[in-house]
Amino acid sequence: MSLRILIIEDNEQNMYMLSYLLEDKCQILQAYNGTDGIHLALEKSPDVILLDIQLPGMDGYAIAGELIKNPSTRGIPIIAVTSYAMVGDKERIMKAGATGYIEKPIDPDNFISQMISFLPENLVNKMNLP
Ligand code: MN
Repeated sequence: MSLRILIIEDNEQNMYMLSYLLEDKCQILQAYNGTDGIHLALEKSPDVILLDIQLPGMDGYAIAGELIKNPSTRGIPIIAVTSYAMVGDKERIMKAGATGYIEKPIDPDNFISQMISFLPENLVNKMNLP
């Protein structure tokens, strides 16, 4: 039973990179916007959500707000993955409900360990780690 992870990211290259880094360790669900992301979260109950902040339409703050508001998605850890490295943005997304924050550009050598640092042990144990 492997970890189910939902990636909400509008940039093709970032989606490719994240999926590439995770595909042998997790089961991946992809959404390119907030509407699809929330829909998939409700339908598939992923274990974790990786959330971009800058998205067309609903942004990451709004998406986190919706996910937290809904009792069926409230318990899913949200890890923000964003190039918004401005002062205050980390605080803002954490306040919106994220449990962790990883800055872009994605560091392929460290991404998995960064992600793991924000996950409870029971979820880490569901990953197919070497
Ligand atoms: Mn984006």
